[in-house]
Amino acid sequence: MARYDYDLFVIGGGSGGVRAGRVTASLGKRVAIAEEFRFGGTCVIRGCVPKKLFVYASQFSEHFEDAAGYGWTVGETTFDWPTLVANKDKEITRLEAIYRSGLEKNNATIFESRAVLEDRHTVRLVAENRTVTAETILVATGGHSNRHTALPGHEHCITSSEAFDLKRLPKAIAIAGGGYIAVEFANIFHGLGVETTLIYRGAEILGGFDMDLRKALRDEMEKKGIRIICQAIMLGVDKRPDGGLDVHLSNGEMLSVGEMMLAIGRSPNSDGMGLEEVGVELGKTGEIVVDDYSRTNIDNIYAIGDVTNRIQLTPVAIHEAMCFVDTVYRGRPTAPDHGAVATAVFSQPEIGTVGLTEEKAGEKFDELELYVARFRPMRHTLSGRQEKMLMKLVVDAASRKVVGAHILGPDAGEMAQLLAIPIKAGLTKDDFDRTMAVHPTAAEELVTMYAPSYRVVKGERAG
Ligand code: NDP
Repeated sequence: MARYDYDLFVIGGGSGGVRAGRVTASLGKRVAIAEEFRFGGTCVIRGCVPKKLFVYASQFSEHFEDAAGYGWTVGETTFDWPTLVANKDKEITRLEAIYRSGLEKNNATIFESRAVLEDRHTVRLVAENRTVTAETILVATGGHSNRHTALPGHEHCITSSEAFDLKRLPKAIAIAGGGYIAVEFANIFHGLGVETTLIYRGAEILGGFDMDLRKALRDEMEKKGIRIICQAIMLGVDKRPDGGLDVHLSNGEMLSVGEMMLAIGRSPNSDGMGLEEVGVELGKTGEIVVDDYSRTNIDNIYAIGDVTNRIQLTPVAIHEAMCFVDTVYRGRPTAPDHGAVATAVFSQPEIGTVGLTEEKAGEKFDELELYVARFRPMRHTLSGRQEKMLMKLVVDAASRKVVGAHILGPDAGEMAQLLAIPIKAGLTKDDFDRTMAVHPTAAEELVTMYAPSYRVVKGERAG
């Protein structure tokens, strides 16, 4: 008789947990997975997927405007928020079913329950009030939005989780934060006709991204009519008798809005799961500390995805899941590779980026060549839209390797995915130069920037 009920018990049915559970089960292992809410996790239920659908919805207002230059007359348009929310719900329900059926087809056992560790091999299923045992435990519980409980009036604020299911669209919204979520939602709400203000504590939005992109995106967002207030924080939020909110800022301003959204980062879901009791080491922000192979200090307990707070991105969690399966069940110890991870910010215009920013590359390499193109994409010629596209390649002058690529403009995310391949492969600028352009596209600029726009020597711009 087997010593444990299962070979693997996965806690958390998000992108990372489901992938690890499904693939391990497909290898003939006895797998169980517990999820207390809905399968699909942040990405499917209240993150990437509904966000991208909302981005599409919000872009129609500009599409309607742009149509005139192409000869179309668009009649009066109206937007119905409940229709969007209902259709989004249908789509995530469909995706959730796919997640579940992938597990079921591979004979994984599903528990719709919170799971809490009782000891290093025992899990309590709270909804069923019983315990099961497993040889290996994988924690993939993700993260949650920071609710800024130190802020007076924080209870009146929403986060991205609630933003997807608001009963109605507010007339005006303020969004705190300058990261992915704040920037993406500012564009979504603005595109849907909401008067939108972004409040960011730093000097320039999107810390960590290439500075040229940060500035250019901010310019474009402001040109559209999004108000961006930098170097300010919220001091408090008051609810008015009419249900609206007054948001008091450190710069002395007061904003009157229908909703106040917090997008100030996400924290690991590691509370109340028995982790500390079992002796699993947690870091300063509650993240589960793991080694290069996603193993915790307890050698049969592993953790992947946002709960480990390495890089909070869905594809990273999935990659970590595949490495976990290789390491534990396929006899091929594989450490996740967190280098040159491509990423997109679905702002409007969009950002796609991979590799080092000019600033980071300047710290690492003695001399850089920077290739920069700013131009109006063809689709904006007849539309008359004055939006510029920005493309930038960062090249290490000594090795000629392209070490970073940064794009602002339509389809930048799609381009970043493809650029990740040559950059990951360590290809050089000469390889880019040898590549024939696809014409007419915006992406052709990436292989036709023959002369450097400027150089950076020892971190300083050298003309
Ligand atoms: P980010 O880490 O991207 O940004 C957090 C923002 O909040 C920063 O601008 C930060 O400022 C600010 N902030 C942090 N604490 C405070 C505070 N106490 N008061 C005021 N401002 C504060 O987090 P997000 O919440 O936007 O997103 C979470 C993660 O989800 C991201 O890191 C990303 O990995 C992932 N994500 C990815 C998406 C994608 O791939 N397209 C989309 C959405 C999310 P500062 O810069 O000064 O630290």
